[in-house]
Amino acid sequence: MLNGLIDCHTHCRFSPDGQDEPIQLAQKAIERGLTAWALTDHCECNTWFEPEHYGIDSKTADYDDIIMYNCRKYHNDSIEPINVLAQQLEGRIEFVRGAELGQPLQAVEIADEILSDKALDFVIGSLHNNAGLPDFYYLQYDKMTAEEITKLLDDYFAQLLEMCEWGRFDVLGHITYPLRYITGKYAISIDLNRYKDICAQIFKTLIGKGKGIEINTSGLFTDYKTTMPDRSLLALYKDLGGEVLSLGSDAHCAEKIGQGIDIGAQIAKDCGFKYCTYFKNHKPVFINL
Ligand SMILES: [Zn+2]
Ligand SMILES: [Zn+2]
Repeated sequence: MLNGLIDCHTHCRFSPDGQDEPIQLAQKAIERGLTAWALTDHCECNTWFEPEHYGIDSKTADYDDIIMYNCRKYHNDSIEPINVLAQQLEGRIEFVRGAELGQPLQAVEIADEILSDKALDFVIGSLHNNAGLPDFYYLQYDKMTAEEITKLLDDYFAQLLEMCEWGRFDVLGHITYPLRYITGKYAISIDLNRYKDICAQIFKTLIGKGKGIEINTSGLFTDYKTTMPDRSLLALYKDLGGEVLSLGSDAHCAEKIGQGIDIGAQIAKDCGFKYCTYFKNHKPVFINL
């Protein structure tokens, strides 16, 4: 049981890579004793339209090429059912209507359109791909040189910092996301010390704007076996004065709701955090850890 904890990063069938009905996720969230649960389906700004909009023929393209497209349709289809769900859940669990806003600076006018939705309580800002490249999930790191991987990560952290300077989200999602594949799937170890300074800049920028980060626990259940970010970066965030800390499983099906949240909460406590945070109407609500 996860009594009193929160899971603020989950996906249902209104994400291209999600499976279950939102009510199935809600039932699991309640069953597992969560105080607050956020549904944060993908709004990938740079892949918001039909594949054809980007010059990709969806009839001949690989499934992998098109899976992340058409987020606008998923999002629009979700609005009415989520309204109904929010009413059904009143008094049963603190339901947070969220969105995972992917690559906002790669199509800022789309980000503006998504953010104009006043019904949204909570926005995770995420970077799944460097500008002009596919999602980190699809890259073949065994075909890259060490220098190319270093350059890729240098660009990743630089683009994260730019996103934080723009800052129109509540928490920055899964910092170090590429390592789930580079270190996890491809077993290439990366020395995060190289990125300590830019992470400090990222954290100071977020703290200055009253924004936060999340502990994303999904990496624990992959070959990476580590939260995103890891303990060392969480401790750095805390040292710099970071207080706003969300917890998210990044579950893409009901069965995984809350997965690893207890471990994430323990890591947060070990790093000196006393609270975790969820958002209502973009305002932080602090919960004792
Ligand atoms: Zn993500
Ligand atoms: Zn996600």
